[in-house]
Amino acid sequence: MKQFKLEYTDAEIFNNKLEEFKTWCNSNNIFKMMFQVYSEVLETDTLDAVCSVIKRIFPGTLYMGCSTSGNIIDCQLSSVITVVCTVFEFESTQFSISQYDLTKDSIDNITASIVEETRTWSWVKAIEIFCTIPENSSTRFCDGLKDIRQDIQIFGGVACSDDITSDLSCVFSKGGEYSGRSIVIIFYGGDDFYVDSINVTGWKPLGRKFHVTKSDGCILQELDGIRAYDVYHKYLNIKNDENFFYNTLEFPLFYEHNDTTILRTPVASNADGSITMTSDMDIGSVVRISYGDPGTIIESIKEDSKKIYNFQPDLLHIFSCAARRTFWTSKEPTYEIYPFKDISPSSGFFSHGEFLRTKGNLNQHNVTLVIAGMREGNKDSKTLPFIQTGEKELSRIPLVSRLATFISVTSLELEEINKKLEYANDKLKTAAIIDGLTGLYNRKEIQTQIENKLSHIKSEKFSIAMFDIDNFKQVNDTYGHQEGDSVIIALANLLHNEQAGYADKFSAGRWGGEEFMLLLNNTDISAAALIADLIRQCFANTNFPEIRPQTISIGVTQAREEDSLDTLCTRVDTALYKAKKTGKNKVVVI
Ligand code: GH3
Ligand code: MG
Ligand code: MG
Repeated sequence: MKQFKLEYTDAEIFNNKLEEFKTWCNSNNIFKMMFQVYSEVLETDTLDAVCSVIKRIFPGTLYMGCSTSGNIIDCQLSSVITVVCTVFEFESTQFSISQYDLTKDSIDNITASIVEETRTWSWVKAIEIFCTIPENSSTRFCDGLKDIRQDIQIFGGVACSDDITSDLSCVFSKGGEYSGRSIVIIFYGGDDFYVDSINVTGWKPLGRKFHVTKSDGCILQELDGIRAYDVYHKYLNIKNDENFFYNTLEFPLFYEHNDTTILRTPVASNADGSITMTSDMDIGSVVRISYGDPGTIIESIKEDSKKIYNFQPDLLHIFSCAARRTFWTSKEPTYEIYPFKDISPSSGFFSHGEFLRTKGNLNQHNVTLVIAGMREGNKDSKTLPFIQTGEKELSRIPLVSRLATFISVTSLELEEINKKLEYANDKLKTAAIIDGLTGLYNRKEIQTQIENKLSHIKSEKFSIAMFDIDNFKQVNDTYGHQEGDSVIIALANLLHNEQAGYADKFSAGRWGGEEFMLLLNNTDISAAALIADLIRQCFANTNFPEIRPQTISIGVTQAREEDSLDTLCTRVDTALYKAKKTGKNKVVVI
C-alpha cells in the first residue's frame, strides 16, 4: 500500500495536479486506488467541486470524504482540504465503499445491512467508519455491529468541523450524496491484506470514584445520588453556561465498559441538572473525572504504539479527538502523534468521536487516539527505527500536573483507608452477633431473633429447641478442656448444617457453655420435635477420634400468642430439665 497526498486550494489547480498524478499513475501501472477527502470546510459547493474533479479524471475510482476539525498527514497538520490517494499493490486486495443515509433508514436497518455485507463478502478483514455527529447515543449503532465476524477489525471516527462545539458535520462518497446525517463505511480485505488497530488515551483518573446511580440512555442524571451537573460544578467549578461543553472537554469521565477503558465527554448540561453524554451510561458503572497529563500521555503512547510498530504497517490511519488537538495546542496540535511518523506514512483527522472494536465489542470513545495500521503482504525483516518521544522536554513536569497527581494519589489513599474501615466495620458487626468458638449466633443475637419472631406470632408460628450436652463435665474432666471444645464444635457444626441453605427456616445460637438454642421458623411443635430428634440421633452417631460418642438432651416448645421471651425460654428450659431428669439422650416436648 502507498499513500499520496494532494492538497486542494481551488478547482483549477487541483484539476491540474490530479491530471499530472493520473499521468504518473499510468506510467507506473497504478490502477487500484481510492481517494479520501478530509475537509475542515463544510460547504457543499466546495466539496462538490473537489468530488467532480476526482470523478472526471478518475471516473472508475471510489472516493469518500468527511468534514474534520483538522487534517493529519504524516503526523502533521495538513491543508484545510486534503485529498489522500491510497494505492493498493496486491492483486488479491479488495475494498468497497458504502454510504448509509440516516434520514432514510433506521440505525437498526443500517447496522443489519453492514453485518449482511460482511457475511456476503468473506474477504472483509476491516471496517472503517466515518459518520456524521450522531443526534443521539451511539450505543445502538455500536451494539448493532456485534454480530460482525470476530476477526474483523472495526475502527473510525466521527466527522467534525473546525468549531468543535458545533454539531454540524458531513460525509460523502461516490454513489452517495453529500450528507449531514450519514454513515460511510470502507470495507477492506483480501488474502494479502493485514490490519491491526490500537487506542491510546493517556488520560488519568482524578480524585474520588462515583457510581452512576441514575441514568436514562445517554442522559446521565445522578452520580452517587448527586445531580451529574452538580458534580462537575462542585469539583471543577464548571458553570452551566454556553461554555459547559468546552470546559468539560478536558475532564471526561473515565470508566470501564466492555472490559475497555472509556473516556466520555459531556456534550451538554440540561436544565434538570442532568448531562448528555455521547453514549449510554449504565447504572452501576463506576466513573471518575479524568484529566490529561502530558507525561502519562507520552508514556501511554510509547507503550501502546509498540503493537502497531511491530505490525510493520504500510500506512496508518489516525483518528484523534479534537479535544486532544486543543489539549496540545500550547506545544503543537500533533505533538503526541509525531512519533508515529517514523513507523510509516499516515493520514487521518481530528474527530468528534473515535470508534474501535476491542475484545469483540465496538465502542465509541471520546478524547481518544485510535490508530489503525494496514499492510499488504507479509512483514519484511526490515528494522524499523525506534520510536522517539519528547521525553526530555517533559522532564520538567508542570505544576498543574503535580497537583493533579497529588489529588489523585490522595484520593486513592482515602479510598484504601475507606476500604479498610468498611472491612473492619463488617468484622465488628459480625463479631457483635457471632459466637467466637462455634460460629453460631451468640445468645444476644438469637434472643433478638426470637423476640422479633414473637412480635409476628399472629402471622407466623414458630418453635424453639434447647440443647444441652449430657454429662459434659465428665468429658472435660476425663479428656481435658480441648477435647471438650471439639465436642461443642461438633454439635455446633451439626446445627450449622441444619441451617445451610435454610437460613429462612432455621437459626441456631450458642446459649452458653454447652447449651444451644434452635429457632425453627414456620414450624409447629410436632415438626420441631421430629427435627430435634433427628439432630439428637445424628449427634449420638458422631464419632470423635479420642473419645467415645456423646449424647444430648433437648427441650422443645412452640411459641404461643401470650408468650414473652421470658415465658417461652422458661418453658423450653423446663422441657430440657425434664429430659435430663428422665434419663437424658432424649427430646421432651411441652
Ligand atoms: P448434664 O448432663 O446434667 O448437662 O451434665 P453436665 O455435666 O453437662 O452439666 P452441666 O451442663 O451443668 O455442665 C456444663 C459444663 O460445661 C461445665 C463447664 O465446665 C463446661 N463448659 C462450659 N463452657 C465450656 C467450653 O466452652 N468448653 C469446654 N470444654 N467446657 C465448657
Ligand atoms: Mg449445661
Ligand atoms: Mg450438660
